[in-house]
Parts: sequence; structure tokens; C-alpha cells
Amino acid sequence: MNERLSRRAFLAGSLALGACRPSISQSWTGGIVGASHDFGHLLRQAPRATTATAEKADVVIVGGGMAGLIAALRLKQAGRDVKVIELENEVGGNSASGRNATSAYPWGAHYVPLPSADMTDVCALLEEFGLGSPDRWKEDALCHDPNERLWYRGRWLEGLMPSYGLDDAARDEVQRFFAKMEEFKQLRGSDGRRAFAIPLENSSRDPDLIALDQLTMADWMTRENFHHPDLRWHVDYGCRDDYGSGFETVSAWAGIHYYASRISSEVFTWPEGNGWLIARLRERLAGHLIPGHLVTRITPEGRVEAVAAGSLNARAWQAEAVVCAAPRFIAKRLIPGQESMPSPTYAPWMVANLTVSKPISQTWDNVLRDSRSLGYIVATHQQLGPASGPTVLTYYQPLDHLPPAEARKEALAKSYAAWCNEILADLSGPHPELRSHLTHLDVWLWGHAMARPVPGFLHGPERAAMSQPLGKIHFAHSDMSLSLFEEACHWGHHAARAILA
Ligand SMILES: Cc1cc2nc3c(=O)[nH]c(=O)nc-3n(C[C@H](O)[C@H](O)[C@H](O)COP(=O)(O)OP(=O)(O)OC[C@H]3O[C@@H](n4cnc5c(N)ncnc54)[C@H](O)[C@@H]3O)c2cc1C
Repeated sequence: MNERLSRRAFLAGSLALGACRPSISQSWTGGIVGASHDFGHLLRQAPRATTATAEKADVVIVGGGMAGLIAALRLKQAGRDVKVIELENEVGGNSASGRNATSAYPWGAHYVPLPSADMTDVCALLEEFGLGSPDRWKEDALCHDPNERLWYRGRWLEGLMPSYGLDDAARDEVQRFFAKMEEFKQLRGSDGRRAFAIPLENSSRDPDLIALDQLTMADWMTRENFHHPDLRWHVDYGCRDDYGSGFETVSAWAGIHYYASRISSEVFTWPEGNGWLIARLRERLAGHLIPGHLVTRITPEGRVEAVAAGSLNARAWQAEAVVCAAPRFIAKRLIPGQESMPSPTYAPWMVANLTVSKPISQTWDNVLRDSRSLGYIVATHQQLGPASGPTVLTYYQPLDHLPPAEARKEALAKSYAAWCNEILADLSGPHPELRSHLTHLDVWLWGHAMARPVPGFLHGPERAAMSQPLGKIHFAHSDMSLSLFEEACHWGHHAARAILA
């Protein structure tokens, strides 16, 4: 998604928005960009392509996000004729990215934690893309130092859990917490499985572990006597980062999973974030992608109907198997009679990309402690050599201050100027000079960004039912577990294997 609005167009827009116009003189361009809400909302009017003559395909994949593309790759490699139908003009879904003259940058997913060797599907995919192997991952794709810092009490501190200002009792509490997380990391259930594994399906089903899915992470911390506000902030931050919802909303099982499922704190990252992986998938699936088409109906008999963006021309396919890789809140509108299918609730997010004429940070991840945002990452961080030229900052904000439906409504109603004011005010503490270096600012709103692992969701009966096929339809979306690259990878492989079997 490129810089679309001219400065003149932006200024005209912001003047029309009156009260929300930034109070300073504006010297940057930009606008609200992002997912095709209007085209997607056509689904509500239930357009039909029932008259279209069906084209033939072995497998039709509905949705070209990470899970759909991975399913498509594996099926194509097994010799199947696959078609991936994607609503947007470009595949990628929540791993979408953009590019301007300064750098590529992410609009959503932006890193992949180093996988352990037992995560065989993830390892195989990363190996295929030339990133090394579990014996020796390629260092240049791993996030360079310095990796992360925290803006707290008017200064930058190294790491996200600094000991700055903690007394002995607080230090002991923090140590006790991390020792407990380490214990969970090593723990195996009586079934021999890791207590907290990725993919989630490989985790132990021991009742005492599953019981952690019944209370919130905040309640679990209270129960275990973890009261220190710095520690509680850290855990809340982790939950908001991975799930778009704070520790008072997500289950203790999900909160602990954030700390106990990964073997390494190192991550792969690229200027365009996980868009780098999408580009590799796109190359390998050339000729099989049908973007710019809204799927309107999928039948258990394998018929898929869609309308083209712009022309609204109808198309249909008849397939031996269908992979529904669209999120569940959409899938249930596509399959006749399945409106009451179980579905998670979703956290909305706002992401902004700010192009600045001067580098303002040498660190990749810059987290703000007293903020509703998670701070920003620097797109050019992986470039070697001194950071002297312009760069792009990707600013992330989960919209979890209100229940999801209200937050979504508020976000969609907010003007571009109001978003600019909010973002720049937030960043003005650590970077008072930022406005004078800003050349472009785009905002992207994700209405249904991440499935919320609220108590009872991950280990409840409804989620288990979500992955069951329906006639010829197999499901593959990260909302069937946790909103992570590795889970999307798991579900993509799972659907492909089921079809090949
Ligand atoms: C802001 C943000 C930051 C994130 N950061 C990270 C991160 O750093 N690391 C990480 O591992 N994960 C991150 N994630 C999680 C991310 O969701 C997953 O990594 C992954 O991209 C999900 O892929 P998916 O295929 O499951 O779903 P999606 O990306 O939702 O893909 C579904 C696809 O279906 C398409 N579609 C929907 N309806 C239709 C229709 N009717 N017809 C045709 N197509 C349709 C959509 O357009 C979309 O392309 C982040 C998510 C967000 C929103």
C-alpha cells in the first residue's frame, strides 16, 4: 500500500473534518488506508453468483492470508491444481506490508520467533525460504542489536522489564515470576507433551493445566501473589502484544503461553515484517492467485462463488475440496445454514506507518510504558551501517480500551487528523522533535485483527468444533487457536494434509 494521498488532498480532507484538525501547521502527507471494508461489507447484502458457470479446480482456497497461502503451497507441491481467491488486491491478510521510496514496512505481523526443532512445519518452511535450519539459522535475518527498549519516567531503559526503581522485595517478586515461567517452559504433562507448545494443538491436555484456561491472567497473578505494578504492566503488555487484549481479558493459559511456549527470545524480522514470507509464497504460487475477488458462498459440495471488485462480475468454481482460510466471523456468513457456527470474538487494532526524514532510534522495538500504544518498530533497523537517512516507524495500538464492537465503531468514526494528533501526542514524550521530521503518515484500521483467547475459548468445546471439516470444506485460519504466524502455518499444513489424505 503506497503513499496514496497528496498533501493537498490530505489538507482538504482535514479541513473538512474541522474540529479534529491538528493544531500545528502540517507538513506531512498521508491518510487512512487499509483493508477493503466497503467491498467486504457487500457480504451483508448477500450478493449471489448462482448463475455463473463453474470453472473446475482440484482445490479452491478462500482467503490468501498466511494460512491459505501455506495450504496452497503444500497442495501445489503435491501436484494439485489450486486456486487462491482473495478479497484484497494483494494477498497477505494480516501479514500485509507496504513500500515507499524510503523503505518497505509492515502493516501487521512483523516478526517470527526463532522456532524450536520440534516445530517441524515452521522449520521446513523457513528452510525452504533459505533462512538456514534449526542447527544453524541465518544470522542476518535475525533481529540485530539493540533489540528493545522501554520509555519509562522520562528516559529510555534497556529491555522491557528493567530493574530500575525496584526495591528488594519487588526484585524478588519479579525473579519468582520469571522462575515460574521457566518452570512452565520445561514442564511436560502426564501425556508427555509440553505444557505450553506451539502449535497449541501439541500442548498437554492435563486437567490442572487446562484449568488455567478458566480464569484471567490478572486473576491468576493475584492468586499467585504477583502484585507489583511493573510486573503486572509487563504481563499486560505481553498479552496486548500477542493477543490484542490485556491480561484482564485473556485467560491465564494464554498469558502463560506467551512466556512459556518459546525456547528463544530471538526473532526473525525484515523491513516489510512477515510480508517477506508472503512475498516468497506469492512467487511460488504465481498463476494460482485470484486477488480482488470477494467470495460470497461456499457449499459443502465444493462450489465456491465470488464477485470481482469493481465490475462485480460473478465467477464460480467447482472443486474436489475447499480450504476456507477466511476468518470464522466471515466463514459463517459464506456457508449456507452455518450462521450460528462457533466463532471467537476479535480485537481491533490501529497500525500507523510514519516516514521521517531523520533516524530517531537505533533500537528495533521501542515500547512506551504509559501509553495505550505498544510503541513503534524501525523498518530500516536490519540495514547494516550507521543509521543516518530517512526511515519508517511502524506504530502499533491494540484498541482494547473498550469492548471490541464499541472500539471498532469508535475507530472507524475517527478522522485522519484525530489519529495524527493522538499518535504524535503519544510519541512527543520521547521524541519532541518528531513532528518536524515527519514527511508522511498513513493509518490502517484492522476491525477484526486477532481472535481473543478469553477464558474458556482455547480449551473449550466450541474451539474444538471449529476445526472439523464440513463436507468438502476444510478450515484453516489462525483464529482456530492463537493469532500467530506459527498457528497459521499449522492450520495451513493441517488442511493440506487432510485433503491429501
Ligand atoms: C496488527 C497485527 C500485528 C501482528 N503481528 C504479528 C507478529 O508480529 N507475529 C506473528 O506471528 N503474528 C502477528 N500477527 C498475527 C497474524 O494474524 C498472523 O501472523 C497471520 O498473518 C494470520 O494469518 P491467517 O491466514 O490466519 O489470517 P488472515 O491474515 O486473516 O487471512 C485471511 C485472508 O482471508 C481474506 N478474506 C476474508 N474474507 C474473504 C472473502 N469473503 N473472500 C476472499 N477472501 C477473504 C482476507 O482478506 C485475508 O487475506 C499480527 C496481526 C495483526 C493484525
